[in-house]
Amino acid sequence: MHLTCICAAERARMIPRAPAGSRGEGGWNKDGFGSGTRFTTAALSWSLSLGLLGLAWISTALAQTCGTAPVQVQVLGSGGPELQDRRASSSYLVWIEGRPRVLVDIGGGAALRFGESGATVSDLDVILLTHLHANHTADLPALVKSSFFEERTRPLPIYGPAGNKFMPSTVTFVRALFDSVRGAYRYLGDFLNPLARGGYKLQPQDVRPLSGKLKADRQPGDETVYPFANERLRASAVPVAHGNLPALAWRIDAGGKGLIFSGDTNGRGEQLGRLALGADILVAHNAMPEGASGVERELHMPPSIIGRIAQQAQIKQLVLSHRMRRTLGKEAETLAAIRRHYAGPTQFANDLDCFTP
Ligand SMILES: [Zn+2]
Ligand SMILES: [Zn+2]
Repeated sequence: MHLTCICAAERARMIPRAPAGSRGEGGWNKDGFGSGTRFTTAALSWSLSLGLLGLAWISTALAQTCGTAPVQVQVLGSGGPELQDRRASSSYLVWIEGRPRVLVDIGGGAALRFGESGATVSDLDVILLTHLHANHTADLPALVKSSFFEERTRPLPIYGPAGNKFMPSTVTFVRALFDSVRGAYRYLGDFLNPLARGGYKLQPQDVRPLSGKLKADRQPGDETVYPFANERLRASAVPVAHGNLPALAWRIDAGGKGLIFSGDTNGRGEQLGRLALGADILVAHNAMPEGASGVERELHMPPSIIGRIAQQAQIKQLVLSHRMRRTLGKEAETLAAIRRHYAGPTQFANDLDCFTP
């Protein structure tokens, strides 16, 4: 099976290298500029071209954009909450026709990866939050502040779960950050204040599971909500079990491709499998090893459950993210547990990897 990851390591190999032996010629010694070096015109010309080439290297290295396929998923953050996993926390970007249109979560470190991907907030159609744990939302202020320097004028909707006694709703959360009177970042209040002139407005909205009444004309057990659609894409969500927290799994349909973001979930219930049915990519969270129990298991799904959902939903490609120290280094064991159920292409994500459905 053809694997479709444009991985960070492969991109690094594509970055042009300095010609062999370039240093030491034209009056340089091996330590750089030697004392008493005769700086010839040829050397000057070469150093200028090397300087320009250097700029090219920098821009190539910084803009780690995906390839040219019409729909791509880029992993901005492949890590969990621990900084020692040396990865940005959860965040994903969906590129459609070469532009970043959907941002799913924005954990710590992901704002930097957003910049490195070459994306701009101006291109985003929507931000989708799976839940409000810090490692899924902490860089939202950094993203919003950065967008101050862009030219966006159209509103930016942010959809996420409704609240409960353990978590605020998405609307309350965004207001707690940016409300112009009481927000922690009230100095950015113009992004929420409808009376403020200039710039664009954030539009936070809560996604609530369907009430029993609304479900009457649906398939039994179907809890899918369709909060956002435009001419390019449709976003749908189901509630998923993640301890006591309100949490959502998201599906993006665009260009004939279905992309699933499980978010954090222990995998209990049938909703995620139904949402994912026939999807091209399932991004699932590899946050616990097989056999772990207790709080870990209440919050996350083991590899065997990931494999079973991927198999039952007939997923075409599985991407494992939200990698933590307790799962890093156990990839062979994880893969073996998945393979007991699911035989399709399966890859472990790293920051800035791109996956083509
Ligand atoms: Zn998480
Ligand atoms: Zn979580």
